[in-house]
Amino acid sequence: MNNFETNSEATAEPVATTDLLVVGAGIIGLAHAALAQQAGLSVTVIERDHRAVGASIRNFGHACITAQHGEIYDMAQAGRRHWLDFAAKAGFWAIESGALVVASTETELQVLREFSASRPEGQVGVLGAEEVRARLGRENTDGIRGGAFLADDLRVDPRTTVGSLATWLNGQDDAAVHFNTTALGFGAGTGRKARVETSRGAYEADQVFICVGHDVDHLFPALAAEHRITRCALQMASAPAPESTTIVPAVLTATSMLRYDAFTRMPSAPALRAEVEAASPELLEIGANVMFTQRPDGTLLLGDSHSYDLAQPPFLAENTTDRLLRAAARVLDVDSLAVAERWQGIYASSDVAPVLVRDIAEAITLVSVTSGIGMTLSFGLAEANLAARPLTTATTTR
Ligand SMILES: Cc1cc2nc3c(=O)[nH]c(=O)nc-3n(C[C@H](O)[C@H](O)[C@H](O)COP(=O)(O)OP(=O)(O)OC[C@H]3O[C@@H](n4cnc5c(N)ncnc54)[C@H](O)[C@@H]3O)c2cc1C
Repeated sequence: MNNFETNSEATAEPVATTDLLVVGAGIIGLAHAALAQQAGLSVTVIERDHRAVGASIRNFGHACITAQHGEIYDMAQAGRRHWLDFAAKAGFWAIESGALVVASTETELQVLREFSASRPEGQVGVLGAEEVRARLGRENTDGIRGGAFLADDLRVDPRTTVGSLATWLNGQDDAAVHFNTTALGFGAGTGRKARVETSRGAYEADQVFICVGHDVDHLFPALAAEHRITRCALQMASAPAPESTTIVPAVLTATSMLRYDAFTRMPSAPALRAEVEAASPELLEIGANVMFTQRPDGTLLLGDSHSYDLAQPPFLAENTTDRLLRAAARVLDVDSLAVAERWQGIYASSDVAPVLVRDIAEAITLVSVTSGIGMTLSFGLAEANLAARPLTTATTTR
């Protein structure tokens, strides 16, 4: 058992006993809980906040499947059907939107051609300038060389998805989500069960998944240090779409191609990096991935910058937002965008591996996506983690 002090509400008897206990009601925790519930297990989720307000509501809502590579790509693809399935069950918004990569130079287009040739027919369609213009709802093709359409990508509305999933889960047999309940310590419980001490007493379960996002460094500092985890802070903004345009796919640009593995492996990727370094150093300086998605109400979610540190200052640099907005405005062919909101999101980042899954004690597993693609991986990762730790029957009651 970790050292911890329980508060006055804690008792020796567990307040709940369940097949599976999940700590954290972000998308990673809820994906584990939802798949386990569907497999017939009793499930409880505890979340320290009154509702989840972490990375899972601050992002683009883009299941960026196609741009992944290797095992991570397989995991992203495995999660795709679950996204659609739970959207139907829980009633949250999800669309098979695909993603549009806009190329403004020949080098960018060449990377997209190479990428298309490396994938099965139809998965990555190379587009002419006119097709890109039409998908962006623009009037002209100025500055557009061409692009690509990534057919398998999905989009959800990040503001509402995890809330809807938690509400749905709470309404299912043998499932509960307990908000305002903070996990304080982890150890052995009755028999072979794991035990989690919380701000509202102890919980016991046959299996615990700890899915606390970037707070992994607070709860497990030694493990976080071993996995070289830092916090990546991203600046985001929202704005109404120009002229009420509807843009169905997630929209990516050259700076996106520098960040996703599937593109950086292409033969022309080094030339692309050199080109962006020469043409847009101000974007590389802020670690930009100039991209946007559109919420169902028409609002554009615009971003993003990346800065890495062990602790993140809360201050948003106006200069960073300006650069991102100017770049997005160029893609949309408008003079400016009228910002409605700005915010910071944080995720755990590691150069060791894109995902940290570690059995830290008997029946207790830590899960953190350490690469900024947690929406994309959530259900595929949960499927793999549950399959690796089979719990066959609903043995416990709450
Ligand atoms: C700006 C931004 C844009 C992004 N865009 C995308 C994108 O488009 N596509 C994509 O795939 N990924 C994207 N990501 C990454 C993605 O959002 C994250 O990888 C993912 O949301 C992580 O989910 P999570 O459940 O691990 O973390 P979170 O959503 O942060 O949830 C963790 C939860 O654990 C709770 N918690 C923490 N400690 C405790 C405790 N002790 N007890 C109980 N509860 C606790 C927290 O309150 C929180 O609700 C983006 C991230 C950011 C910040």
